[in-house]
Amino acid sequence: MIVVMDRNYTSNDVERVVSYIKEKNLEVTISKGKDSCIIGILGNTSTLDLQELYRIKSVKDIKKIKEPFKKSNRLFHPEDTIININGNKIGGGNLGIIAGPCAVENEEQIVEIAKKVKLSGANFLRGGAFKPRTSPYSFQGLELDGLKLMQIAKQETGLSIVSELMSISYLDEFIELVDVIQIGARNMQNYDLLKQVGKTGKPIILKRGLSSTIEEWLLSAEHIMAGGNENVILCERGIRTFETYTRNTLDLSAIPVVKKYSHLPVIVDPSHGTGSSEYVESMSMAATVAGCDGLMIEVHNNPAQALSDGQQSVTPEQFDEIMKKINLLQQVKCNFR
Ligand code: PEP
Ligand code: MN
Repeated sequence: MIVVMDRNYTSNDVERVVSYIKEKNLEVTISKGKDSCIIGILGNTSTLDLQELYRIKSVKDIKKIKEPFKKSNRLFHPEDTIININGNKIGGGNLGIIAGPCAVENEEQIVEIAKKVKLSGANFLRGGAFKPRTSPYSFQGLELDGLKLMQIAKQETGLSIVSELMSISYLDEFIELVDVIQIGARNMQNYDLLKQVGKTGKPIILKRGLSSTIEEWLLSAEHIMAGGNENVILCERGIRTFETYTRNTLDLSAIPVVKKYSHLPVIVDPSHGTGSSEYVESMSMAATVAGCDGLMIEVHNNPAQALSDGQQSVTPEQFDEIMKKINLLQQVKCNFR
């Protein structure tokens, strides 16, 4: 449920609403916008006397939220959430560019890629150290050594780093070594993992599950936010369909749909979304035009020899071309606003 305050509200009016709700042992969220204030109520609202609430000065409207996700719901927080990671913003029209290999392989590889993607305009370096591989016989990642190599690449370039956490047992190391924790598609419904990262203040990239609906995805974000961590970035990475000419079906319609229902930033991963490096440029461009808040692109200095996902990794030179087009599209988009 939300309480919408009149535009002439005072902090005293808000305080009266908040204390009334707290008296009923319900959780309250406050979202102040340019000329509005929305007070969100979480819990069993049947104990509230709405007439009493309406009697408080400046209370304009009280509405039930029909969607099951609340804190991530745009009605709870009408303005876009902007997440600032070491000075790089994602959301609200700020495009975050995350690039790097599927997996960290060695120091030379990660440092070379980091330097190149930075020159092309990336602001985050991605690199998997713990890899969720379909086959147990495929390369599983360098684990903690991989995170340490990411740190070296960060020191060399200043890029913030993104890496996937698969198990709670490494949470402390991730809090120390990583700027943004990625929760992979396969773990989107690992609710225990979501709850644990929800207790940290770390920005989280939450990938859409392989066959998850948008509502299930937003409810997973809600699990993180319910623990107090509101720094959630949603990542569309394609879903399973009957199509076989692409690895997944990249659902670009998820961008406007998520933006309608949620205030959280939504980024797009065209690499896993298509599974083929030749489609990464067109899907990156399409996602930018559709209004995404960022891109996550797999880049490898030698895709043919990559230990994972080489077929969908672009070279640093191809990434540079993509970035030139993305920058142009960003400028054109400004003219349409
Ligand atoms: C990845 O980003 O390397 C990855 C494994 O992605 P996803 O969880 O989307 O499959
Ligand atoms: Mn990958």
